[in-house]
Amino acid sequence: MSESGGLYVHLPFCPYICPYCDFAKWPVRASAAATYLRALDAEIGAAPEFAAKTVFLGGGTPNTYPSETIGILVERLRARFATPEGAEITIELNPDPALCEGFAAYRRAQITRLSIGVQSFVASELKTLGRGHSPDDVGVVIRRARDAGFENISLDLIFAAPGQTIESWGRTLDAALALDLPHISTYGLTIEAGTPYAAWQAREPAAFSAQELEADLYARAIDRLTSAGYEQYEISNFARPGFRSAHNANYWANGAYVGLGVGAASYLGGVRATHTRDLSAYCAAALDGAAIPGESEQLAGLARAGEAAMLALRTAEGVELAPFAERYGIDFVSYYASPIGEMSEAGMLETSPTHVRLTRRGRFLANSVCAAFLSPT
Ligand code: SF4
Repeated sequence: MSESGGLYVHLPFCPYICPYCDFAKWPVRASAAATYLRALDAEIGAAPEFAAKTVFLGGGTPNTYPSETIGILVERLRARFATPEGAEITIELNPDPALCEGFAAYRRAQITRLSIGVQSFVASELKTLGRGHSPDDVGVVIRRARDAGFENISLDLIFAAPGQTIESWGRTLDAALALDLPHISTYGLTIEAGTPYAAWQAREPAAFSAQELEADLYARAIDRLTSAGYEQYEISNFARPGFRSAHNANYWANGAYVGLGVGAASYLGGVRATHTRDLSAYCAAALDGAAIPGESEQLAGLARAGEAAMLALRTAEGVELAPFAERYGIDFVSYYASPIGEMSEAGMLETSPTHVRLTRRGRFLANSVCAAFLSPT
C-alpha cells in the first residue's frame, strides 16, 4: 500500500535575492523557469505512489510563475497524488502586487491557503532585509485575495532583523493584527553561512540583535499574539481556532512526506532523502528520467524516535506518551530520563501523566532542548 502524508513542491525562482536567504533559489529567468517546469513535470510522472493529504507549493517565490501555470501544476499534482477534495493546498506568495493578480486562478485550482512572506511592516527594515515590497503592498494583496474568496491566509514575519527594536517590532505586530488574519508565523532571523548577511555579521557584529533583545522580541510576539486570541501551537506558529497548518502539523508529527523539485526533501518508509541543490543537475536528471542526485539516510528505530521527540516538542501538545510508546516501542519518560530530568530542573520542560512539553521558558531555547533528545546520554 502506498504511503500518505504531505506533498511539498519547490519552485525556486525569485524576483530578487534576499541577502539573508539560504534556500535553494535563483533570480527568475524565463528560459530557466520553463525548463524547470518541464523537469518538475518529469519528476511528478516518475515519483513514487503517494497519497497527498496536503500540498504545499514553496520556494523560492512560486508566484513568479503565472497563476494559470500554477493552476495547471496543482491540477496535475492533485490527480497524480490522489489529493482529496477540500484538502489543504498552500501556496507561498511574495506580496508584490504585480505578482499577485491571479487569485481567481488559484481558487479554480482548489488552492485553499495562502502564506505570504511579509517579514516586516517597517519600510526601513524591509529595505535592510532586501525585500522589494512596501508595507502598503501587503494590504493591497490581501484585499485582492479576500475579494477572490480566500480566508485562510497566513503571514510570515521575521524578528531580530538588523536595526529592529522592541518598538518597531511592536508596530509590525500591530499592523499584522490589524489585518485580522487567521494565522501568523514569526521566525527569528538566523544567519546562514555563505550568505551576504554572514559576511556582514563578520564585519559588523554590532549591527545584529544580541541574544537578550532577540528573546525580548520573541516574548513580545508571544504575548501580543496570544492576547489577541491566537494560539501558539508551535514555537514559531500562531493560529486562530481551526486554522493550524495541517501540512506543517504532519512534519511535526514525524509523518511521511514527498518533496519534489530542486533541493526538496522527502521522508518515506523511515528514509530521509534530499535532492541536490544544483539546479542544472536536477533538471538534467529529471528530464533524462534518471535518479535525482542527492543524499539519503535510513533512520533506524532509535534515531526515528529521537527525531520524532525533537519535532513533537516544538508543538503546544509536546510528546504524547501513549501514542509515542505505541509507534516507537519506547517508554519516552524512562528512555529519555536524563534529558527530561536535566531540562525539567532548568525549568524548560513540564511533564504530566500523558504528555511532556516545553514550558514557556523552554520555548526560548527550543533548539537546544530539542537537540538533547536527538542523542540522549
Ligand atoms: S527569502 Fe524568499 S524571496 Fe527572498 S531570496 Fe529567499 S526564497 Fe527568494
